[in-house]
Amino acid sequence: MLVYKKNSFTCFNNIAKLFVNLKFIIQKLTFPRRCVLCAARGQDDLDICIACAGDLPYMKNACPSCGAILPNEMAVEDTTKQCGACFGQNLPFQCVYAAFLYQNPIAQLLIDLKFNQKLLYAKVLGTLMADYLEKCYSKKNKPQLIIPVPLHKKRLRERGYNQALELARPIEKRLQIPVDKYSCVRVKQTAAQSLLPFDERQSNVRQAFAIRKPLAVKYVAIFDDILTTGSTVKELSQVLRKAGVTKIDVWCCAKTVVADP
Ligand SMILES: [Zn+2]
Ligand SMILES: [Zn+2]
Repeated sequence: MLVYKKNSFTCFNNIAKLFVNLKFIIQKLTFPRRCVLCAARGQDDLDICIACAGDLPYMKNACPSCGAILPNEMAVEDTTKQCGACFGQNLPFQCVYAAFLYQNPIAQLLIDLKFNQKLLYAKVLGTLMADYLEKCYSKKNKPQLIIPVPLHKKRLRERGYNQALELARPIEKRLQIPVDKYSCVRVKQTAAQSLLPFDERQSNVRQAFAIRKPLAVKYVAIFDDILTTGSTVKELSQVLRKAGVTKIDVWCCAKTVVADP
């Protein structure tokens, strides 16, 4: 009886697998991936063609402490090669990893993701970021948790989703690091940082975040879509440190090109 049950279970499993494979093949034949930039055929599991992906403005030489663009070629992994603004500073986070420069077409993709409901772009950019981060952490320990910068509940209701969380999903899957969207909340409804002058951004986000649930880990990655002055991630890092987190890296999709004052 037990053998019969086991055999029928295996048989059911094989049929289920066959259906999943068939569905995948039919999907590939009827709805092939299309590049979000040029509409040419995309890659196997990604809506961007190899040529367009190769032309994206990848970040090549950035300060490992703040993500600012350095004047000459320096290895991202070399933590001794900081920019002048970071040298000797005691920042609340360890390393900043920005996959791209905030230039077109990345800038337009992020704007459309944020304001025009183009959630597919989160999958494309998040997957490309996962490739990048996998290389960054190939020789060192990875954070234990990804914390997307939370939106205030009113803004979340208006937009319907948090773009940082959507971008982090493919990274969660590939790097096998869970995303935590519950422990940290935005308690203050702040003005959009992009609309403020640089010197008002830090005060705008002061006391904007709170911890709702204690964190069980010591090493986290804060995730944001765009990094400019770093005021938001600095504020969130300080809140996380008070909650017992001892090491923080910052991951962002794109770093603005304009140098911070
Ligand atoms: Zn293309
Ligand atoms: Zn720096």
